[in-house]
Amino acid sequence: MTISQEGRTQAELPQVGERLGRYTVERVETLPETASVYVQLRHDLGSRHIHVARQDENAGFAVTFPTVPKDSTGVPHILEHIALMGSKRYPVSDPFFAMIPRSLNTFMNAMTAADWTTYLFSTRNPSDFRNLLGIYLDAAFFPRLSRFSFLRDGHRFENADPADAGSELKMQGVVYNEMKGAMASPGMVMFKALGKALYPDLTYANNSGGEPSKIPELTYENLKAFHAAHYHPSNAFFYTYGALPLTEMLETIERDVMAHFEPHDLDVQIPDQPNFPAPRTEQVSYPSTDTERGAQALVAWKVTPTFQAYDNLKWSVLSEVLLGNPAAPLYKPLIDSGLGSALADGSGYHDNFREAAFAAGLKGLSAENAPKVEALVLDTLRRIEREGLDDELIDSALHQFEIAQREVSNAGTPYALKVLFAMLNPWLYGGDPVASLNLSAELEKLRAERAQGRVFEPMIRQSLLDNPHRVTLSLLPDPQLQERQAAEERAMVERLSAHFTDQDRAAIVEDALTLQNAPADDHSLLPSLGLSDVTLSVPRPAYASEELPNAAIYRAAQPTGGLVYLDVQLPLPELTPEQLDLLPFYAFAVTRNGAADMDAVALTRRIEAVTGGISASAGKGNSPDDLAAVRTSLTFSGKALSRNATALVGLMRDVIARPQFSEERLAQLVNQRVAGMRAGLISNGSAYASTLAGAQISPLEALDERQGGFAAFKRLQQWQAQGDWMTLKAQLEELSAVLLAARPRLVLSAAEGDLNLNVRPIADLFGGAGAQLYTPPLAARVPQARTADTPVAYNAAAFATVPYVHPDSPALLALSKLLRTEYLLKELREKGGAYGGSAGFDPRSGVFTLSSYRDPHIGRTFEVFGKIGAFLNGPLTERELTEALLGASRQLDPLLSADSVARSRIFSDLAGYSADVQEDYKARLMRVTLDDLRRVQQRYLTAERAAYATLSGRDPNPETAAQQLQFEVQSV
Ligand SMILES: [Zn+2]
Repeated sequence: MTISQEGRTQAELPQVGERLGRYTVERVETLPETASVYVQLRHDLGSRHIHVARQDENAGFAVTFPTVPKDSTGVPHILEHIALMGSKRYPVSDPFFAMIPRSLNTFMNAMTAADWTTYLFSTRNPSDFRNLLGIYLDAAFFPRLSRFSFLRDGHRFENADPADAGSELKMQGVVYNEMKGAMASPGMVMFKALGKALYPDLTYANNSGGEPSKIPELTYENLKAFHAAHYHPSNAFFYTYGALPLTEMLETIERDVMAHFEPHDLDVQIPDQPNFPAPRTEQVSYPSTDTERGAQALVAWKVTPTFQAYDNLKWSVLSEVLLGNPAAPLYKPLIDSGLGSALADGSGYHDNFREAAFAAGLKGLSAENAPKVEALVLDTLRRIEREGLDDELIDSALHQFEIAQREVSNAGTPYALKVLFAMLNPWLYGGDPVASLNLSAELEKLRAERAQGRVFEPMIRQSLLDNPHRVTLSLLPDPQLQERQAAEERAMVERLSAHFTDQDRAAIVEDALTLQNAPADDHSLLPSLGLSDVTLSVPRPAYASEELPNAAIYRAAQPTGGLVYLDVQLPLPELTPEQLDLLPFYAFAVTRNGAADMDAVALTRRIEAVTGGISASAGKGNSPDDLAAVRTSLTFSGKALSRNATALVGLMRDVIARPQFSEERLAQLVNQRVAGMRAGLISNGSAYASTLAGAQISPLEALDERQGGFAAFKRLQQWQAQGDWMTLKAQLEELSAVLLAARPRLVLSAAEGDLNLNVRPIADLFGGAGAQLYTPPLAARVPQARTADTPVAYNAAAFATVPYVHPDSPALLALSKLLRTEYLLKELREKGGAYGGSAGFDPRSGVFTLSSYRDPHIGRTFEVFGKIGAFLNGPLTERELTEALLGASRQLDPLLSADSVARSRIFSDLAGYSADVQEDYKARLMRVTLDDLRRVQQRYLTAERAAYATLSGRDPNPETAAQQLQFEVQSV
């Protein structure tokens, strides 16, 4: 087939009814607010395709399959892994991972939800797009699904000593281990329990990720059958986004996929869940010793079919009104009850079930308080329904929807993929995808309905209070669960292996050895970018500057879709060490208390009503030529629709100049912060360990450890224990006054017509004092261990190297990429069984780190860290070098957007990292050789220069004696 595109430009998109090869154009819509065009097509084989044409240098792709598991063996999840482990055209063991360093992608991933699986990527480079499209299509439609992939990522028996059939048998497998970890997290347990409790008769009752006790029931044949039944063009939803020609992409899909298939009837429909005659209660548990504050309670309802666009919108709005911020009418009474410290996992509106759910509850509960949450939620809803919702709150929520729809930002996830996620669920469930991208028509309908009378109170009455399809879920910590699960696992292994013959046992050893000794792949089969694909320039957005005696103002014209972005960066004047330590909490608390004549509730409501959010963050950095001196700053950031720009300035002025801290609120915020840090301690274990090591060799990291590491966590816990809110309040007020001495930099990014905004009300607040440089003292150079509730370890080594402008810096950056893909992933993940192993280099701080993630080992890992020199002296080729340089340039080229590109340029320029300095770095990077990598390793990454740290569940010292490492151990 050929699809002609003669003379067709971006502006001339296809017409409805037009045939493009075997595709029919079903719908074309312009979306003026985001300057894009929506094109919906259907292939004769049944596959759907949505293309969003938009002048964006970053292009996106996804192929999604509805996958409806009938059991909890994790078949969709295991298939998602194994599809990426070699295909017809790319028969190598890990094409997906092997492509990461051969690409300049801005996003590559695959994910399994409760009832769909998606493979998606984005990139700014057209050749890269074509390369990745080829890999993804082949992986999804023609995977090898080899038996050894199934054993490696699914499940297998393996002996404790893999070569010894007499040693203890264990259950192994990447997904098996991944899900054992995942099902220990309360959020995951709650979410799976929610689907099962509300939809007991549907696919949602199953765990699509895999229940560890059920995964071993999956057979290799079932895996292949599941692929054949679901990964077919007739069940495929394709998505493309960007400025590349649609016709070319359709031709590729036709040639590589469609041409090889026949039509196929599938049964992936999800029926309605029959309504409950009466509300239910369910109880689940997760492994934790935190019986004092580890419980959660969640009240959940089945509310409306997700595919009805208008109802879906109304529920999204109602959820935002009730729970969207700490001052919201359901959120605030829950927290003020004092029963728990934060909303329960799973609170909010969920359109990721065919019939949507709404839920609200609390976490941070003691077990005996869990039953009180149901009455609290119901009583609060009754009162809200009786008294009525404030119209202003509804207007504020609608205002947030307007901002979300207009904002085109790559922050967090690339916009190229945010568009997909906005419409994916309604699209898959048979609803209208356009309605999720362009809310105008539905919002108009809502305005009309609101003019007729109350809209949301009847929803609260009918769909919540009077709706018997309700479940109250209690999630309780169980200190014995981990032990019990381990015993059950041993019993399962015994049961399944009871009748093994000697032959069976020999086969297990043979498989294990085959897996371990798999020959290296021939990656030359895979496409790759070359160094000529690297963009050597950096963005140079134009901006105007204005120097006042006490402030500097910068204005940049950007296509921001009618939004105005304002950043106020305060380079800090002289602070005491205590004030420096306090800074991150100040940034957290200042927008969550009151300001001027507003208390916390009034300020939160005002922020919601006129802005898209105001936040503050503490920053720090080194100059390009000096690692000893550290600059620190506090930055206030806000955004608003241009019609509210003046109100944004006024509000930011109030927050900066007249914060009103209340002791009661500070107590809540400290509790929240401690709970938040505790919850993230293990999942961010590598970062915590790296900072703890870095603090011994880098002044910047020493400050980082005190401001955001274990030391900060300890300090917050002390505040919590002391409860001296009066002193904390006084310290914050004192700091607030000191901050006003600074000479701020105000950066405004907005459309040309909005650039003359008067920001003097903020600029005029300040004294104009110069910034202070700090040299925070290093932590003692002693290996540090922190112990916590975790079965695995997070190990780190850190090395101080050179500043940004030093000739060796680019080689260190390239070395970090090479070590990660070629050495650490192989040694720590493939051989050591850790979930991850990494090397990192921050050119601005000069700190080089080696780390491991969810690692069963400690001593072995530090031994691996010690052998990087030996590895580098082995055979390395130009291919490894090219991949390392591609990876390094990816790090130097973050994906920016209209909201961030000028701010990033201006703050970099002010810190000494001008566009010229950055381009010079890139040019030097392109000249790095393999010998440079070996040389900088020998010079900087030596045992004498190393600092060590680990976070683990045990004392590391018995395991690290062979490395001559003696750790100082503290419990977290
Ligand atoms: Zn996974």
